Amino acid sequence: MNKDPKKSSHQTRAIHGAFKTGAWNFSQHLVPPMTTSTTFRLESLKRGAQGFQNFGQNKVDNPILIYDRLDEPNTLMLEEQLSSLHGGQVAIAFGSGMGAISTLMMSLVKQGQKIVAHQTLYGCTYSLLKNWIPRFGIETEFLDLNTFTETSLGKKFDLGSLKSYLSDSKIRLIYFETLSNPQMEFINFKPLLEAVKNENQNRSGDNKILVAVDNTFATPWAFRPLEWGFDFVIESLTKNISGFGTDMGGAIVTSKNYEVPLKVGRKDFGAIMTAHSAWHIMVYGISTQSLRFQQQQKTALEIAKFLESHPKIEKVIYPGLESYPYFKLTKDLLKSPDGQYSPGTMMAFRIKGEFAKTEQFVDDIAENSYTITLAVSLGLTKTLIEVPGYMTHSAMSEQDQLKSGIDPKLIRLSIGLESSSDIIRDLKDGLERI
Ligand SMILES: *Cc1c(COP(=O)(O)O)cnc(C)c1O
Repeated sequence: MNKDPKKSSHQTRAIHGAFKTGAWNFSQHLVPPMTTSTTFRLESLKRGAQGFQNFGQNKVDNPILIYDRLDEPNTLMLEEQLSSLHGGQVAIAFGSGMGAISTLMMSLVKQGQKIVAHQTLYGCTYSLLKNWIPRFGIETEFLDLNTFTETSLGKKFDLGSLKSYLSDSKIRLIYFETLSNPQMEFINFKPLLEAVKNENQNRSGDNKILVAVDNTFATPWAFRPLEWGFDFVIESLTKNISGFGTDMGGAIVTSKNYEVPLKVGRKDFGAIMTAHSAWHIMVYGISTQSLRFQQQQKTALEIAKFLESHPKIEKVIYPGLESYPYFKLTKDLLKSPDGQYSPGTMMAFRIKGEFAKTEQFVDDIAENSYTITLAVSLGLTKTLIEVPGYMTHSAMSEQDQLKSGIDPKLIRLSIGLESSSDIIRDLKDGLERI
């Protein structure tokens, strides 16, 4: 059969999906219609009962739809697409990235167990782990995960201390971000996954250590964690995957083993995606994501080189530059499905001098730049600038920010689809004025 998605490239699958879905019957439409019903007609009591019984292990081929908070056709189609792009068995979509992250933690970790997270995290994830999760008797610990693992920064890999650290039977979940937000650190995950695998030989069932990674900065175009042995990959769909700044969403992609607890968790915690958002993200977002990402990445490299060569800039952190501290490590890991190095669309930089200069520059851009907008979020068609220490990461105390290397002067830039020469002109003019 020629209509087999497995024979096609990532980009083609991002457009055609499963081609023919069992999630909903709409054979005459080129684009699936948007569903607008929150509840579904059940032909008999028996079928209704069967639906509840099957829930969570729903066959996409023939789902018994009951109520939108359980399963809904547009979301099911989006999930098919996401799991295909990540090479997972299942994807579970949520109303936001935080909905996905909190449901993951609350569904799979229980009282008395422990979550170990890298010390630098997206601000709300940090707040979730610091302020909320411990209330349920779950311990959380923040570590520099790279202290255990050899990196191109010259830290020595220490297998002995990693092994003994992991032998703590309370540890249930290890959590970090592929390119940490905002300073773009990269965790040398291979020895970590290897050590977890060894430790798991001594554990069974609900005591096994699980490893989850937030892949929002990399997207499935630049990094596909399940291929490397991670248990879960999380995406905030609000960012590059949705891409236009119109819809929020999140997803977990994983294996069949975790489908039931995560779907039951989503049902009971309620962080569901709306059919409206699922439809937009599927129809406009996913199908254009790899093209947008590649173009933004090309521009990002030009911008990073411009900034690096500017006399008023102290440092630029971008994985496409040879000066990137993890350059050697990521070269073989951050790759597009067709094998090209994919350093991404995000960068951070510092301006020389006092913080007042940083503030002056950012305010100047906010006021005078045509292409660059002062706003949070990332991965959109418009180029965005922000100062994480004061904005997205303000949930962290100043002390914790410093400890995890968040520098209050670090400026984050998310590259859009404008032409690079226009973005460079705006940056250059702004820098000249300070
Ligand atoms: C935005 C973001 C999130 C949260 O996603 P929402 O869709 O805003 O809830 C999580 N992780 C990272 C790295 C993000 O950038």
